[in-house]
Parts: sequence; C-alpha cells; structure tokens
Amino acid sequence: MSSRSLATPPAMSPRRTIEKRSRAPLGHLMLSHALKDAGFEGEIRIDEKTLERYATDESIFHIVPQIVLLPRSVKDVQIAVRVVKQESAEFPSLSLTARAAGTGLGGGSLSDSIVIDIKEHLNEIIKIDKKAGHVSVTAYAGTMWRDIEKALKEYDRYLPPYPASKHICTIGGAVANNAAGPDSLRYGHVADWVESLEVVLDDGEVYDVRPLSYKEFRTLQKSKNALARVAKEVLTLVEKNEAAVHKARPKTKKNSAGYALWDVVAPSVAEWKKGKGSFDLTRLFSGGQGTIGVITKVTMRTEPIAKEVSLVAVPVFDLAAASKVVLEALRYDPINIEVFDALTYDSAMKNPQFFKDRLPSLDYYRVLLSMYTTFHVRWGRRLPEFVLLVTLDDKYLAEKRFKKEEIINLMRGKGGRGARLIVNPYEKQIYWQIRDASYSLSKLLDPNKRPAAFLEDMTVPPEHMARFFADIKALLKKYNVTAAVHGHGGNGHFHFYPLLDFKSQATPALIVKMAEEFFDTAVKYGGNICGEHNDGIIRTPHLGKMFSKATIGLFETVEHIFDPADIFNPGKKVHPRFDVKESIRHTN
Ligand SMILES: Cc1cc2nc3c(=O)[nH]c(=O)nc-3n(C[C@H](O)[C@H](O)[C@H](O)COP(=O)(O)OP(=O)(O)OC[C@H]3O[C@@H](n4cnc5c(N)ncnc54)[C@H](O)[C@@H]3O)c2cc1C
Repeated sequence: MSSRSLATPPAMSPRRTIEKRSRAPLGHLMLSHALKDAGFEGEIRIDEKTLERYATDESIFHIVPQIVLLPRSVKDVQIAVRVVKQESAEFPSLSLTARAAGTGLGGGSLSDSIVIDIKEHLNEIIKIDKKAGHVSVTAYAGTMWRDIEKALKEYDRYLPPYPASKHICTIGGAVANNAAGPDSLRYGHVADWVESLEVVLDDGEVYDVRPLSYKEFRTLQKSKNALARVAKEVLTLVEKNEAAVHKARPKTKKNSAGYALWDVVAPSVAEWKKGKGSFDLTRLFSGGQGTIGVITKVTMRTEPIAKEVSLVAVPVFDLAAASKVVLEALRYDPINIEVFDALTYDSAMKNPQFFKDRLPSLDYYRVLLSMYTTFHVRWGRRLPEFVLLVTLDDKYLAEKRFKKEEIINLMRGKGGRGARLIVNPYEKQIYWQIRDASYSLSKLLDPNKRPAAFLEDMTVPPEHMARFFADIKALLKKYNVTAAVHGHGGNGHFHFYPLLDFKSQATPALIVKMAEEFFDTAVKYGGNICGEHNDGIIRTPHLGKMFSKATIGLFETVEHIFDPADIFNPGKKVHPRFDVKESIRHTN
C-alpha cells in the first residue's frame, strides 16, 4: 500500500475508466481461444439467443454481454479468472461478472463483457454437518436455495434469512447480494449466517475464507498468498480508519449497500488483538456482488424450524396507526412482521386464476372463500391501507409470560382495530399466498406496464414508516404513477414497484428523476435506499446519499485491494460506469 491516505480512492485514473467503457471485441474473441488453451472445459457461448437471455435479470436494465461462460468445475472458474486477468492487461474492457439465477433486482449480474454462470453446473449440496446440536450446510454457490431448504427439512432445520425469492434464487447469489427476508427481523441477513466461503481471488487461486482469531491471522500471514495480502491490507484499512468505519454503519437494521467494513473486525481491532472476537472477510464477500472475487462454495449455519407460532393479521385502515401497531408488535420479539397494501389484496381478488394455478382444487375454493369473506364481512368492503402479518413465537411468549389476547388487544388499541389471531388454515393461506406472491400480483395490475424495480429497497426506522409512507404516496400522486407495495413492515422496509411502460421513450428520464426524489425522502427519515437487494447498477450512483465521500473512498479502496485490475463485475458498488438512462430496457 502506498503512503497516500487509506481513505482516499485508489489509483483509478479517469483515463482508465474511459478505457473500461469502450469495448474491444477483439479481446473477447481471442479470449475464447485463450480459455480453451488454458484447459477450460466448460461451455463458451456467443450465440445471440444466449447473449439475449443473459442481457436481462429481474431489474429494469438490458445489457448484452459479449460472452457467456458456463464453467463445469471450480477449476474452470479459476482458469476464467486467470485468463481474464492476464488478457485484461492488453484489453482493459475485459471483465468477469458472476451470475447465478439472475433474480437480482438491481442489475448486479449484468455485464457488457463476460458473464460467468455459476448456477448451470455448480449446483450441488456437498454436505450437511451435524455436531453437538450445531447443523451447517455446505453447497456449491450455484445451488438453489429451495433444494437446500428441502434437504435441511429432514433435520428440522432451515436457513432463517431466506429471501422471498427462495424458490427461484441460489445460495451464492443470496450471499453475494447479502439478501434477507421475512425472518430477518429476528435473525438478520444472510451474512450473519455464513460460516465460511470458498472463493476464487484475482490470482485465480481458491481460498477458504472464514472468521479468524488473531493467532490464526498471524499464521495466515506466514503464507505469501493473495489471501494473506488482502487480509493484511483490509486490516490496515480498518485499523487506520476504525472510528470512521463504525460511524459509517447505516442506522437502519437492514442494509446491503456498500462493503460492510464495520463488521470485519469485532468487537474492535484492539480487543481482537487481545484474543477476543474475530477478523472476518466473509463480511465483504457477503454483499460484495461479485466485485471482489467469485464465490464457489458456501457453508452456512442453520436454525431449528420454529413449530409453535401464531399468526396475527392486522388490517390498518388509518396510515398514521401503522407505526404504532408495528412498534407495539416489536415488543414481543416476533419472528416476522410482513406487510402488503390495498392494491395487492385487490389484485389478488381480481385474479382468482392466479391462485388456481398454485393451489390444489379444494384448497383453492376454501382459500378464495376466505379471501372474499375477509373483504366483504370482516372488513366491511373497505380495503385497508396495509395488512400487517405478525408471526409470534409461542415459546418465547410463554417464557416471558406474555398473553396473546392481551397483545392483540394492545395492537387494537394502537389503531389496528381489526387485529385477529388467525387459526383457520385457509385464512392463514390467503395471507401468506398474497404476501409471497405480492410481486407477481403487481405484474397483473396493468398488462401494458411492468412493475419497475428501482424504488423497491427503501427502508426507514419503523417509528417513521407512517410519515414516510404518506410522503411516498404524495410523490406517486405528483408523478401520476401507481405502485403496489409490500415488504417487511417490522423493519420499515418497503418494496414499491411503480407500474411503468418501458416502451415509452419518456420512461428512462422519469426513472432517473423519481429515483433522486424518492431516495432523498428515505434518507430524510434516517432511512436507507438499499435494505437487501444490493447496489447493482441502479443504486451504486446514489450511494453518496447514504455515505460520505470519505466512506465511499474506503469502499473504493476495499475493491482495489481485492481487484487491482478491476476485472470483477466493474461498475457495481463503486465507480458506477453504466449510464442508467441508456441501459434501461425497452420492453415490458
Ligand atoms: C419475486 C422476487 C422476490 C425477491 N425477494 C427478495 C427478498 O425477499 N429478499 C432479498 O434479499 N432479495 C429478494 N429478491 C432479489 C433476489 O432474488 C435475491 O437477491 C437473490 O438472492 C439473488 O440470487 P440469484 O441467485 O438470483 O443471484 P443473481 O441475481 O444471479 O446475482 C446477484 C448478484 O450476486 C452476484 N453473484 C452471483 N453469484 C455469485 C458468485 N458465485 N460469486 C460472486 N458473486 C456472485 C452477481 O454478480 C450479482 O451481482 C427478490 C427477487 C424477486 C424477483
């Protein structure tokens, strides 16, 4: 490391940024040969159909890669990294973007250079380890979350930070995004459950990354490898900037923006050197969006499945009451507090076919009956602004001698007048069916528009959620845009999906304008623009709203320590290089 201030950005000259932008197709053609010569045994695809498939994910962007690689082994990933690093010296536009299931909402897996698909072949559970009540699971990064969940069920265990997309996403994508989900209210993000990771660093070697004691760190330093180097440089960075690093930690409970430098050394560098806590680089790979290396294997802790739980549904007709009800519910350490809005429920009622496709026939009729009874009888044909779903842990309530009926009465007193314990299994199903399908239901609101993911990750402290929500409603009105909303109410975390026509030429400019104003509103309430979906293309240019210039300088230094040639997924998290307006898709 040079003598320049560690908090300042690394040597990323403007010239180099421009070089990175201009593509050099020749480099990509030669790369195919170079890969094969180096022993790459996976697939190398350049046909238009494949490139088009990888040009989109669940985000609003469309960026066509030049090559798609489908490695068959970890060795193939290593070869790809080595070859890209070597060739990038001559062709600086070359880069390598890892992709898993492509369900990311911010464009994190899109690239105009090389995409390496980790899901196609690297998708097996390696082992489930059971030791003295501790169960962990190790899988290749491309393994589907649902497959791991199914395997763990046999042990009565699960991965608590499961995202709502657990049926369609991979474990590696979830780690790289530092995803979170309903139960994160109690159990935190994916990063909190990572035990260790196998990663390929920029030298093309495979490393085992796990929390280290000071003694283990010193042992690592005896080897002269890339992991020892990056570990040393990250430690120096944190040590020199420790107060600033901790000050930069976002105030909201949920966050996947930036690099979580504040979690790397715990409890502090001084205490760690005295033998307490750990130095943990998994905290940077988790949420790193593939910008500092490629994750090949993931080991995660698990938790017993809570069996004794109660669901309380709280329709909230008066927006001002929403914060009060949530704050009341939070006093009982619920497993989750989920939320969906009136538009979502309305869409569910108007699209019964949606549920017919998902439920066995008898269940379908019972669930539908319950849905209409709730609207017509229980709610008196008025749609609530929100429905809050509160999952209480019965064992915890018994331990603390809390009475469910009293809790429900207290929630009613805070404005959730219709709060009810849901015991009927079909009524339970409607609520969870609607919540789980909220995003898909919003796609049915207008067939000529697409629910646009760019305001979908704002989170505010729950005490401000009613005022924040009122401001957002006013802004939507100002822009004359409809947006269904759902999310994780206990964390004040809302997924707004404005319905926009991507065929309209006016849409890109509208998105850019709306993002500015809506993100400012979240920040105004002490909130965060990136609760769990990560920075990607959409939020990276806005990180200055959440972090100081000096903090962004620290993030840039982190990226540079791991990836001095900038080969890993450039333009995400730091140094935004995609023009948001130009990269927006033109189809709905
Ligand atoms: C309907 C729907 C619901 C969703 N609900 C949630 C939710 O509740 N919570 C939540 O957090 N997210 C949610 N998401 C967003 C997304 O599904 C998750 O973030 C998911 O974990 C991404 O996994 P993936 O396998 O699709 O990864 P991808 O989208 O393929 O990749 C995500 C990022 O990780 C990087 N990456 C992928 N694999 C690797 C690797 N092996 N090494 C290094 N980097 C890698 C990519 O470059 C990209 O930047 C939702 C999305 C949809 C469409």
